[in-house]
Amino acid sequence: MVNPYHEDEFLHLSGIQHMAFCERQWALIYIEQAWAENIRTVEGKHLHERTDDPFLDETRKDIRVVRAMPIISYKLGLQGIADVVEFHRIGEYQEGKTIKLDNRSGWWKPYLVEYKRGNPKSDDRDAVQLCAQAISLEEMLKIEIDIGYLFYGKTKRREKVCLNFTLRERVEELSEKMHMMLVTGKTPKAQKGKRCSLCSLIEICQPNLTLCHKSVEGYLASMINCEVADL
Ligand code: SF4
Repeated sequence: MVNPYHEDEFLHLSGIQHMAFCERQWALIYIEQAWAENIRTVEGKHLHERTDDPFLDETRKDIRVVRAMPIISYKLGLQGIADVVEFHRIGEYQEGKTIKLDNRSGWWKPYLVEYKRGNPKSDDRDAVQLCAQAISLEEMLKIEIDIGYLFYGKTKRREKVCLNFTLRERVEELSEKMHMMLVTGKTPKAQKGKRCSLCSLIEICQPNLTLCHKSVEGYLASMINCEVADL
């Protein structure tokens, strides 16, 4: 495989969930380096902290659990951390689906589990992030992964996600767009919608005010110019 991205071009894998939610939100965080925490992101961080110990690696019966596993994809140009990768020991070898683990007998199949605060969402941002992780792990382990899981803090349940062709195509499109937008350095205009009320960057974005300004910088510059003109 020809690697389309060099290591110094890699972007944060977790950013793809922001891109799936709103292109402007992604640009505000990764191009303009703006960030704001609301209760949802704080809750999400706490949930992640429980899994975010790179030294935690345990085996229970036929399941080996690896937490905070670094993952990387040259194809997508993304790198990040997978919350949990469970390796399930299965009876037999399955071509392209199973691997061997050091000092352990049998064949093992990996399953990603991504932890999220709150309830399952009506959009695909969590599934997109999980799928980007799966594509990375597939590349690293040279296998195919058909399904993964999203665990939600509110329901305390795992939701199964089929990592199908449509989802994979969406991930590729979004990651390509992230790289293109970073090169152009342009923040898209606000597209005000229902999602804005759930957005941790609404105060910075100011979707009502910035509809005609491409960037926060542009908006602030225009405000300063207005104030100067008013003097
Ligand atoms: S407030 Fe709305 S338009 Fe602005 S970044 Fe958030 S979701 Fe996007």
